[in-house]
Amino acid sequence: MKISVIGVGYVGLATAAVLAELGNDIMAADVDEEKIKCLNQGIMPIFEPGLKEMVERNVRENRLKFVSDNKKVIGHGDVIFICVGTPPKYNWETELKYVEDVAVEIAKNMKSYKVIVHKSTVPVETGDKIKKIIKESVEEDVDFDVVSNPEFLREGTAIEDTLHPDRIVMGSDSKKAIEIMKKIYDPINAPLIITSVKSAELIKHASNAFLATKISFINSVARICELSGADVEEVAEGMGYDKRVSKHFLNAGIGYGGFCFPKDSQAFIKIAENLGYDYKLLKATNEINDDQKRIFVDKVKKALGHVNGKNIAVLGLSFKPDTDDMRFAPSVYIIGKLLEKGAKIKAYDPVAMDKAKNILSNVSFCKDPYEASKGADALLILTEWNEFKEMDLKKVKSLLKSPLIIDGRNIYDLSAMEKGGFRYISIGRKDV
Ligand code: NAD
Repeated sequence: MKISVIGVGYVGLATAAVLAELGNDIMAADVDEEKIKCLNQGIMPIFEPGLKEMVERNVRENRLKFVSDNKKVIGHGDVIFICVGTPPKYNWETELKYVEDVAVEIAKNMKSYKVIVHKSTVPVETGDKIKKIIKESVEEDVDFDVVSNPEFLREGTAIEDTLHPDRIVMGSDSKKAIEIMKKIYDPINAPLIITSVKSAELIKHASNAFLATKISFINSVARICELSGADVEEVAEGMGYDKRVSKHFLNAGIGYGGFCFPKDSQAFIKIAENLGYDYKLLKATNEINDDQKRIFVDKVKKALGHVNGKNIAVLGLSFKPDTDDMRFAPSVYIIGKLLEKGAKIKAYDPVAMDKAKNILSNVSFCKDPYEASKGADALLILTEWNEFKEMDLKKVKSLLKSPLIIDGRNIYDLSAMEKGGFRYISIGRKDV
């Protein structure tokens, strides 16, 4: 099928690559000309396992093209996926400008029936807005349908998640559009959830709000563990065996970050407020998440007495492993607070340093964890990269000025740390 994708960020690029891999004829566009130039040279604008190979293969086999011309891309596909960003406004409401701009462009340039699919995360009722905008701006008498097809991929496993999703949600009031969408997704073996446009839009926000709440829930339990002497890893394991609870998203730490949970949970509070509902539970989720970062900074200050003039090694900058995404990464807040108090920061991340350099100033970026550790008064773990789980801790200890590890992701065993001669402070567990 001829399909267009507008916006080639994490979602648009994974969508375009996977739909091409499934045999469709894909044209993808972005307003960021530099991004398109890079993609046409085989350079991926983001780090995502398996993405480069898939893009290269499909470009070579002529199923995937990148252009910086939305008009051209709108002409190409019978189905158009809108995958542009929906960043937060200053008050956390969703900025719909990019989605609305694309809707106007589609209206002005479509010459035949189109299925217009919004994949970006948007407030409930955005589908109606898109429909209205297109109806008002359309220049030729052409028919169209709107489908909400929210995306659930996780950065770091975007390709795998797009090929093997837990479910595919599609909301529309048009049977014709749903039949076309079913054809596109036919090669993917996943339950299809067909709903109204509004329900599909809400499924996305409700899912992210639930997952964020689960993280804040276990982080609150971690606080109780610290106060009572219990161990949050043991508590989470005991909870997770209950199928109704499940072990996923029960990892205590410095809280969630990234482009989705912080903005989507705040946006959902606003959406509820605008509809007349005070979303107390989600407000608490966000407060607890903010607390986790503050509590971590306090742990560092307490462990070192003060941080002024101290050398602190930071391992992990991206908001989670296997991505270079620095948006709303807890590391930005934590490093900022430590710098404010006079700490000297040496940092290392396996893939996020290029992006981090644009955000963090007064930080020395190191070539590996050992260079960061050299002469440091403390070593902080902020992202649970496998590389840190597997590093030579004896070497790290010999390089550190004092063998203090403060772990915001609970990646090490308490007994191994004790045996290794470290002073080790983590989340929701006893200090060793
Ligand atoms: P992104 O910022 O990485 O990419 C968005 C792209 O849209 C950018 O490259 C931008 O240049 C482009 N764009 C903006 N306006 C445009 C226009 N008028 N025409 C063409 N291109 C335009 O964003 P993302 O992370 O891919 O997220 C996209 C949407 O998907 C958001 O709504 C997000 O909430 C949602 N989402 C993201 C994830 C994730 O893990 N990143 C997961 C699920 C859903």
